[in-house]
Amino acid sequence: MDEKTPFHFNMKTIRFGGVKKPGDINRNGQQLLRLTNAQGTDKNCRIWILKCSRCSHIYGANSTDAFERRCPSCQKGADGIPFPVERDGEKWTQEDHILAFNLYNDIPFGTIHIRNPRLHELAALLGRSVNSVSLKLANIARLDPVHQARGVKGMQHGAKGEAAVWNEFIRDPEGFALESERLIALRLGKSLEEIAEINADDLPKAGIERDAMIKMRVNQSFFRRRILSAYDFRCCVTGLTTKPLLTASHILPWAEDEENRLNPKNGLCLNAVHDRAFDRHLMWIEEGFVIRFAPQLHECTAETAESIEWLTRFEGRKLILPPRFAPAPEFLSKHATRCKAMIY
Ligand SMILES: [Zn+2]
Repeated sequence: MDEKTPFHFNMKTIRFGGVKKPGDINRNGQQLLRLTNAQGTDKNCRIWILKCSRCSHIYGANSTDAFERRCPSCQKGADGIPFPVERDGEKWTQEDHILAFNLYNDIPFGTIHIRNPRLHELAALLGRSVNSVSLKLANIARLDPVHQARGVKGMQHGAKGEAAVWNEFIRDPEGFALESERLIALRLGKSLEEIAEINADDLPKAGIERDAMIKMRVNQSFFRRRILSAYDFRCCVTGLTTKPLLTASHILPWAEDEENRLNPKNGLCLNAVHDRAFDRHLMWIEEGFVIRFAPQLHECTAETAESIEWLTRFEGRKLILPPRFAPAPEFLSKHATRCKAMIY
């Protein structure tokens, strides 16, 4: 890599002595997360918290050389400075809770632990310890209404803030998801469109229509991440774990069932082909989570036998259920009834 060329990374690459703000990325791919008030190890400098965009390592660096730092973990850069946790022990604000809630919906349940870089990132953004963030996420998980419905222990002392975010989410899931995405975008110095991976060219120029479209796309992205993480990024029919091929399918369609748009029990993590089959009523799930295909999908010629066999070999097998948020049998049964009505 040519160190003399400051602009090869992307448009947000920092100029020497130029603007430095969260979201900027230095010429070695290190993203600025937050400028703290803590004194760095150089004279008259403060500590920036950086995130490596290659390996997600999070570390502190002097503001004097943040623009040229290399990752200590994957680029043989100098050791990072431990990042300050100046707000640890401080009461969690509503905004802190919303940010934690957002992360809770974005990572698999089994990865809520202090080794997860995503927890380090949130801790760095909040100025809190990773332990404290991990504890908060565990508390949010404990109060998840889906678990509560199964009789998991109720709210305990000190869980007021966690209960408040859940109540807000239940009252207005889409509005709340949008708000949480807006807050995280602001903290990361990114646009809402970037966070939700929306292509700005697909949006109307301006006005109410654009806002409505952004809200819909942000919510779809929130649902997608919620489902994929709940299923541990594994297709529940084939077991495929190739992320770009995975889709969060709605069991009852988005347009049809407003109330359950973001309900994780109204979702399945499927590969793109079985997602389409499910959506087009060529595949359904019977009682006991058994996979069924429409008779016309089994029809094949000598030429198509191999691909049809690949598609339908899962007939009669059971869905690979996620560790949490198993799909609701009543939603699956409604979808199955509809599929069968189309055949007979
Ligand atoms: Zn790295």
